[in-house]
Amino acid sequence: MLTQARANLKKYFGYENFRVGQEQIIERVLSGNHTAGIMPTGGGKSICYQIPATILQGITLVISPLISLMKDQVDSLQQVGIPSTFINSSLSYNEVNERMMDLSYGEYKILYIAPERLESESFINELKKLPIMLVAVDEAHCISSWGHDFRPSYLRIKKLVQELPTNPTILALTATATPQVKSDICNQLGINEETTIMTGFERSNLSFKVVKGQNRLDFISHYIKKNINESGIIYAATRKEVDKVTNQLKKLGISVGRYHAGLSDDERAMQQDAFLQDDINVMVATNAFGMGIDKSNVRFVIHYQMPKNMESYYQEAGRAGRDGLESECILLFNAQDVQIQRFLIEQSTFDPDRLKQEIAKLQSMKDYSYCETCLQAFILNYFGDFSEHKCGKCSNCIDQRTSIDITIDAQIVLSCIIRMGERFGKTMVASVLTGSNNKKLLEFNFHTLTTYGLFKERTLKNVGDLIDYLTSEQFIGVTNGKFPLLTVTNRGKEVLLNKITVMKKEDLKIEYTNTDNDDLFNQLRTLRKEIASELGVPPFVVFSDSTLRDLCNLLPTTEEEFLKAKGVGLQKQQRFGKQFIEVIKKYKEDHAIHEEAVQSKTTTNKKIASHKISYESYQNGSSISEIAKSRGLNTVTVENHILQGAVEDATFKWDELVPNEIENQIKEAIKIVGSEKLKPIKEELPSDITYFMIKAVLMKIGV
Ligand code: ADP
Repeated sequence: MLTQARANLKKYFGYENFRVGQEQIIERVLSGNHTAGIMPTGGGKSICYQIPATILQGITLVISPLISLMKDQVDSLQQVGIPSTFINSSLSYNEVNERMMDLSYGEYKILYIAPERLESESFINELKKLPIMLVAVDEAHCISSWGHDFRPSYLRIKKLVQELPTNPTILALTATATPQVKSDICNQLGINEETTIMTGFERSNLSFKVVKGQNRLDFISHYIKKNINESGIIYAATRKEVDKVTNQLKKLGISVGRYHAGLSDDERAMQQDAFLQDDINVMVATNAFGMGIDKSNVRFVIHYQMPKNMESYYQEAGRAGRDGLESECILLFNAQDVQIQRFLIEQSTFDPDRLKQEIAKLQSMKDYSYCETCLQAFILNYFGDFSEHKCGKCSNCIDQRTSIDITIDAQIVLSCIIRMGERFGKTMVASVLTGSNNKKLLEFNFHTLTTYGLFKERTLKNVGDLIDYLTSEQFIGVTNGKFPLLTVTNRGKEVLLNKITVMKKEDLKIEYTNTDNDDLFNQLRTLRKEIASELGVPPFVVFSDSTLRDLCNLLPTTEEEFLKAKGVGLQKQQRFGKQFIEVIKKYKEDHAIHEEAVQSKTTTNKKIASHKISYESYQNGSSISEIAKSRGLNTVTVENHILQGAVEDATFKWDELVPNEIENQIKEAIKIVGSEKLKPIKEELPSDITYFMIKAVLMKIGV
């Protein structure tokens, strides 16, 4: 049976191999064992019931709360040649009857329904007449009152299955299940908990970034301009913020949609549709947007504000990169958000235990924002998937910025807050520091303060950003409430007493690196859009971005070669192959790409890693500053490239970089102050020993 499952995976979906967990789940389902599968978003849960559906005689019933998704899912299945349908509240009475009739004639392999249908006895009686062999329970955590999306109708599933004369197998699937929720799912559905299949929570194609102390609107504007052709979601906490970000992006001429509960149903549906159809690339939304968005080519998810807990964050951020391509999840952190979330939790009607639980969850979210170790490992640990591994691409793993001492600036800000009686907010403090003539400020006589105008050469925004940074580092406290006031924390007081030095890293520069061959990729994307419009389906239903990328890589010019691309099954090859091949052929002619070049492109790795280019130049005699200049990189980046190259090169002569005597001195210093941080090591050593030399020794000895 597994052989057939593998053959069908290729035939219908165009994939060569099952992903981790899929094969085990399918094997269990095909042998008639009730099964629970816990896989991360984008892990490929749907295939776990869709492939069995192609093999089992009879119908697979899928219970899913995501009504908005059903149509897309059914459209996708029709495109690959698996006859499917759905029944939900969007259909008329007659349409429902017609579909039930067709189901009884054996015209469909898969039927999607919403759980609320199970409230109707007459509908259950109709289901009893169908040959239902498998019941797949999607978003199975909705069955548990411990979960965050409890749906009472899910409790009816067990009874339904007991009443069905066909004695179907049950498959429960979810991406979010704490141990308690997992037990609940298994108990409710009669699944043996021991045999639950969990593939872990890791999403290795996502890189997580936390950006602190930067102007958020500036960051977003810059980022979107850089990634103008990519699809992404920006989550903001309130309708007002959604409107603010949307307007800012519109001003920059970016086609952007917005989505929040304040819009009419029609408007929301229209905006969502435009996003799914790739008519707009960026969606700015509250967390009302996303449940049921299965768009696979979302390349980035930016949180304009911090959500209230890690569960929400991971679920929302996880909407990036469902197609498995590299994608980014960026949290724009501002310490004030913690206060706001705390305020909201405290205002809620939770009982004391729940309140405590929510505050603790908020604290974890805050810890994530402040942590300096691998962000992906932090997430995995939070969800009980213990990991010490370093992803190598989150903002902490790649952080190469140098820090600068800003103690004096910090002291100016802190003393200004104290002189103003700790009774004002950020804008007022920044106004005093920049020497504004604001009327209110003059009324309070703040122009007579010694700190008035000390930053008069800076902009209000620049000083505001500095205040944000000092807040995120907990030198400044922010009071709860609607108009947060700035105070100086105990830690801040130590700065004023010269007991703490304040360091700030250079601003984080995150740039999206476009993959090769964007010209062809864009042409294929245009063709995909045309086909999708003709068929009235979203573009990702025709092909995912990862299929288009694979086509750019393989450059197939025959139907046979076309079939080899990831995500191309028989039916799609027959329906769309010709048109795509035509575009690729033309592209190859225009660019005179010969077969050997394609061969070597696909066999050798596409891109030479950046560090190798720097390393090679260095080995060929260029100096670090020359390489930095010619490559447009900063010197620290080039230094790190060289060290990475050196570690990979067994023949590298370390003593030419750091003479033995200096190496020994550095090792001694490490013995005294440890190897955690560079600065204490540097301070132990004569000033002519550079950070680069210290890093080189650490790399060489593998610390
Ligand atoms: P989930 O429901 O777990 O969030 P999906 O079922 O929507 O994830 O699958 C996510 C993406 O991964 C889809 O684009 C799907 O086609 C793709 N996919 C699933 N299984 C495989 C596989 N074995 N090989 C390659 N891609 C796969």
